[in-house]
Amino acid sequence: MVKRASRALVAVLVLAALLLEACGDDSAPATGEAPATSTATPTVATATAAPEISAGAERAFEHLRVLAIDIGERFAGTDGEREAAAYVAAQFEAAGYSVAIEEFEAQIQINDATIEIEGEGGPIRALPLGGSPSGEASGRLVFAGLGEFADFEGLDVEGAIVLLDRGVVTFALKAVNAEESGAAGVIVINNEPGDLYGTLGRGTGIAIPVVGVAGRLGSPLRALAVAGAEATLRSDIGSDVRTSQNVVGRPEDGECRAYLGAHYDSVPDTEGANDNASGTGLLIELARVASGEEFGDGLCFIAFGAEEVGLFGSRAFVQAHDVSEAAFMLNFDMVARIGQRAGDGPRFIAGDIALADLAAAVAGELGYGIPRGSFPANASSDHASFSEAGVPAITVHSGGAEFIHTPRDTLETVFIEDLAIFLDVSIALLERLFEERTQ
Ligand SMILES: [Zn+2]
Repeated sequence: MVKRASRALVAVLVLAALLLEACGDDSAPATGEAPATSTATPTVATATAAPEISAGAERAFEHLRVLAIDIGERFAGTDGEREAAAYVAAQFEAAGYSVAIEEFEAQIQINDATIEIEGEGGPIRALPLGGSPSGEASGRLVFAGLGEFADFEGLDVEGAIVLLDRGVVTFALKAVNAEESGAAGVIVINNEPGDLYGTLGRGTGIAIPVVGVAGRLGSPLRALAVAGAEATLRSDIGSDVRTSQNVVGRPEDGECRAYLGAHYDSVPDTEGANDNASGTGLLIELARVASGEEFGDGLCFIAFGAEEVGLFGSRAFVQAHDVSEAAFMLNFDMVARIGQRAGDGPRFIAGDIALADLAAAVAGELGYGIPRGSFPANASSDHASFSEAGVPAITVHSGGAEFIHTPRDTLETVFIEDLAIFLDVSIALLERLFEERTQ
């Protein structure tokens, strides 16, 4: 038996849906560094000179490999992040720096969901839709098309986990139709291969867990529904306070006259090879090089924790230390995969235009066309915390964001040649900045 949804409620919801439609209800990129195309750098700037794969580039790439492969996922506040911190600390120490592990609290948004199908191996990763309640539900897996009102007519979904396709009607209307028909939970299949980021909107009163899955999981899940499989849905939304840490390498005299930084944490479920084992590997190699060079005078090196969840590491650092007198801050975030898509090429992300233009000039002198640019609107990185504290700061960025925050951000999708370019440019830039500092 199908419970007809209360017409009055549906009418309200259609109205609400239309309102939501006007302000974008059916998926918006999540926060952080989304792989959106940047409008600020209209042209693809690609390297013209082929970089020499120096021993330094080999070392930086080996650090990347250790962080991405030997350690793996490094989500804020986890053992993986702590293991990576210990690795970076050991490298800074080996290069002769006095090392401090500076802990801080990070507020982590928990936004996690899993689907377990009886007899079908480990849990499938899903993402709760915004506004979905936390909870657990088990029942038959039943496919109900797009989840429009008519799709439930004559369909028994009492106590079932309802599987729906994305599209045509809003997520909220799909979920209400399912809930009104007696469903215990809802899974929405994305109509694109990747993960589904979406929202039910506010105040819908939906009381059953509603999650989204990547489009590539559509066919196997629909087949399991036809086979009458049993599913268990878990959705966990909330926040948690975790302890993370920055790893700081200071010269023996302990004085910091300028900073270099990179975040070493990753999002869950990825090796984070480009984001940001690459920047951390480059940072460690630059620390080694700088310790033996004049231009290393007064340089301090910081590996930031908990960047992916909201720049917590760099914010904690500038709150705990007076950085306002620093000459500059260079941040490295994703430096081992030069983006080829329009607007997705390498660039210096300006916290400070003059510093970014100087970096672009230095790169040009080496034969690398790398312009000043910016991140997409809803993205940022750790230079921003220093910019806000009044320090001329930039992020060095290779572009290449198509795989970030996905399991495809692996060793196979990063390149030592690209990392070598940023090593060359960074050393030349540090030499130039030292000249300017000592004139
Ligand atoms: Zn990053």
